[in-house]
Amino acid sequence: MPITDSFVRIRPIWLSRVSHALASAEGVRVKFLQQVNRFYDLLLQAIDQQDPRKLEPVLIEWIETRTQTDLDDPDTTLALVLNKILLTTYDILRTELTEPETLDALQAFLPVFTHAMAFASEQETQLHVQHVSVELEEARQTLERLEKSKSDFIAVAAHELKTPLTLIDGYSSMLREILPSQYTQDPPTNIYLRGIDAGTRRLREIVDDMIDASVIDNNLLALNFQPLWINRLLAAIQREMADAISERRQALTIRDFPGSSEMTFGDGERLRQAFRNVISNAVKYTPDGGSISVDGRILPGFIEVTVTDSGIGIDPDDQIRIFEKFGRLGNVALHSSGKTKFKGGGPGLGLPITKGIIEAHGGAIWVESEGYDEARCPGSMFHILLPILTQPPDDKAARLFGPMMNVERRKLPYGKKTT
Ligand code: ADP
Repeated sequence: MPITDSFVRIRPIWLSRVSHALASAEGVRVKFLQQVNRFYDLLLQAIDQQDPRKLEPVLIEWIETRTQTDLDDPDTTLALVLNKILLTTYDILRTELTEPETLDALQAFLPVFTHAMAFASEQETQLHVQHVSVELEEARQTLERLEKSKSDFIAVAAHELKTPLTLIDGYSSMLREILPSQYTQDPPTNIYLRGIDAGTRRLREIVDDMIDASVIDNNLLALNFQPLWINRLLAAIQREMADAISERRQALTIRDFPGSSEMTFGDGERLRQAFRNVISNAVKYTPDGGSISVDGRILPGFIEVTVTDSGIGIDPDDQIRIFEKFGRLGNVALHSSGKTKFKGGGPGLGLPITKGIIEAHGGAIWVESEGYDEARCPGSMFHILLPILTQPPDDKAARLFGPMMNVERRKLPYGKKTT
């Protein structure tokens, strides 16, 4: 007797029990019955033709009708549905057929069903991956929109702040001009005027940072390359920071390291800003009496500068985040207008700007620190890697400095080149 005969015989009971097992509500069961009927037709074909793939179309249909909510529910996976069908079928075969018939039926049924199970879980996984990719893409777009609004807000706020700032600046210098000198020189007027100056200067720095951050965000940072020497740049910053260093009773040591006195092309102003940010952070996040040292080395094609401090350190989880805009704002209560006050947090734009400047030069910046510990002060070490550019890197620099470079080269004995 062909094996399909046994399956044809058990069909009515199979349909009723499987649809009961799969759907408890009456309405759902009617809908299910049609699908289960189709499943059974294809199951018979698969067994008859010994081709397990015959079941694939109905499995695909079932998978495709599942909603996202179904997909997220582990109790409704197709594998689970198939498992219920398998158990019910086995039960029916055992009770409705003779033992030899059951064995024969199982022999024909199991390979078909194993294939169906494997196929269903593969398809379901693929669908899951598709859904997750769609969700990820949506999340990415939302983040992109948020990032864009953040960047737009910074740009707009910076420009809006600039106007009143210019007004305050203008009126304070007018005050200085119209007041008789005995007022402007003597306290308290002098103190008030100096206070306004210091406040507007700090506000201007913040507004400038906001503008720089948005310029960098929009890839609009234009560099003015010129010949420069890292040791001179660092010496200028040391002079600039001398007052803050002595106020905080800290020691800032700048070592002469190989490569620091070599000429390289870079944007002097921007690099000075970048190094100033890192060094002033070292001052800011190091307790009074601590030490900061700037060292470095020469690597093939690059110069590496390190800024090491004996400060509060940075948690490993934050070591990437601090280079992102508003990466670590910390405790708002600690925010202060002082640029070098201990832990006086700023708007959190300094390092993102620094990173933008260094990367625009083709370099990299990263930090190493054991972790954040205000009691033990493990310190931080910032690494700044910059390419050594011995030739003008763009047309503008070539026009401005090319002739000078050629003269320099011609001046060298035996036609030796500077490179
Ligand atoms: P901020 O204006 O807050 O100083 P930055 O972008 O310059 O912004 O720095 C981001 C954050 O990185 C700081 O708020 C601080 O938490 C951390 N940070 C930067 N430099 C150091 C350092 N040398 N030691 C410890 N923490 C630092």
